Amino acid sequence: MAEEEYARLRELYSEISYIDQAINHLSWDQETFMPPGAILDRAGQMSVLSAIHHRKVTDPEIGRLVSVLEKSELGEEVSAVVREIGRAYRRQTSIPEDLVKEIASTQSVAQQAWQNARKKDDFSMFSPYLVKMVELKKREAECVGYDDVIYDALLDVYEPYARSSEITELFSSLRSRLVDIVKKITESGIVIDETVVRREYPIEDQKAFCDHLAKVLGFDFDKGRLDISAHPFTSGTRRDVRMTTRFEIDNLKNSVFSTIHETGHALYEQGYLENNYLTPLAEGVSLGIHESQSRFWENIIGRSRPFWSHMLPELKRHFPNMNDVTLDQMFRAVNTVGPSLIRTESDEVTYNLHIMIRYEMETGIMEGKIGVDEIPELWNDKYEEYLGIRPPTNADGCLQDIHWSMGLFGYFPTYTLGNLYSAQIYNAILRDMPDLGSRVASAEFAPILSWLRERIHSKGKLYPPKVLIEKATGSAPDADHFIRYLKEKFSGIYGITL
Ligand code: MG
Repeated sequence: MAEEEYARLRELYSEISYIDQAINHLSWDQETFMPPGAILDRAGQMSVLSAIHHRKVTDPEIGRLVSVLEKSELGEEVSAVVREIGRAYRRQTSIPEDLVKEIASTQSVAQQAWQNARKKDDFSMFSPYLVKMVELKKREAECVGYDDVIYDALLDVYEPYARSSEITELFSSLRSRLVDIVKKITESGIVIDETVVRREYPIEDQKAFCDHLAKVLGFDFDKGRLDISAHPFTSGTRRDVRMTTRFEIDNLKNSVFSTIHETGHALYEQGYLENNYLTPLAEGVSLGIHESQSRFWENIIGRSRPFWSHMLPELKRHFPNMNDVTLDQMFRAVNTVGPSLIRTESDEVTYNLHIMIRYEMETGIMEGKIGVDEIPELWNDKYEEYLGIRPPTNADGCLQDIHWSMGLFGYFPTYTLGNLYSAQIYNAILRDMPDLGSRVASAEFAPILSWLRERIHSKGKLYPPKVLIEKATGSAPDADHFIRYLKEKFSGIYGITL
């Protein structure tokens, strides 16, 4: 093999990775500790670093090394490294710099317009910017190229190698079954008492409990931090992961499940192999796989009865005002289901319907079947059809998420992919570890983490996401695992046949 070329490629890529890390830490700082007065300097730092990053990613030397290496005999891992660096290089170089800049500047004005439109509940204040953004993203997709439909070129950034035809198929096998489950739960008229998790919980005690949770699940605080931000997120590398959560004095679910969710993302980051550090093999393979890790820990483990059979006594030690709460009350309170308007506040069952609505809208918009001015009405119709409720305002409807103002088309479906993958992974773990429940009930999380480390985390970008799932679980991505999981869990909670 071309040893020299490979060493040089790794060197160039490590520089790119370090710049990436600096950008991530600066944006983490901006969301957590940065004083407001520093915003202009921060914007300057970010724009200079982003320009350097872009220059380095599109350095013709990378293109040359990749094409030499592609012609040589390479082992599986080296060939994956070359393939992934080559993919990023080709994508970035195919988009003209003018277009990159135009998208960036449109993002900031569109974001502001979206914020104002949402505040005033006036879609027309946002629509001209959205029209512009859609046009720019279409141009980007045309530059990058695609085999099948235009949406694929955008989806590829977040879920590499995925095709919207496959996602459409996966989602359509899911939609009617989800609508049916939601309908049965709603029509049962059963309302679960949530008040046990809506008492008063001093923020400091919540912080201590969340630190404890992250640690028990396996998060390494020598190589990461847990801080506070308005919207929880995780960024970083295997050596330094920054995650955040948020606290509300009268809502225990918010901080606890945000923390478990972000810990799931962080455990993935901490699970890459040190040997592969500063290569694509020490990076998450897709947002869908990343989200499968966060949703696995948050929902499948964190909202399970065995989990709370261990954690409730610990919770009571942190919050004596929870002393009267029974395991059954706690388990049910963290698993309420009901149609809602806002995605980020929705439950395990309805969440994916929110995503499907956006996915159907996005693909329609990109294919020119849905005009921007038709969005509000169509959005509301779909909410009525799938969730049985109609948003009274656009602020609670199509203006609720920031994504479109930032041009993040192709991003939403990865949330549902994550949920589907998480249930499939759960079934595979259960097969290997039939006593999973009793392990969780005794807070024995290490074997579960090892399973994930071995089959998912340590692989980085070695395989395309679909292949990774197939190798890890023994079968191709399939929505049945998720439906089975939901039916079993929520039939029990609601005492009805789903
Ligand atoms: Mg997430």
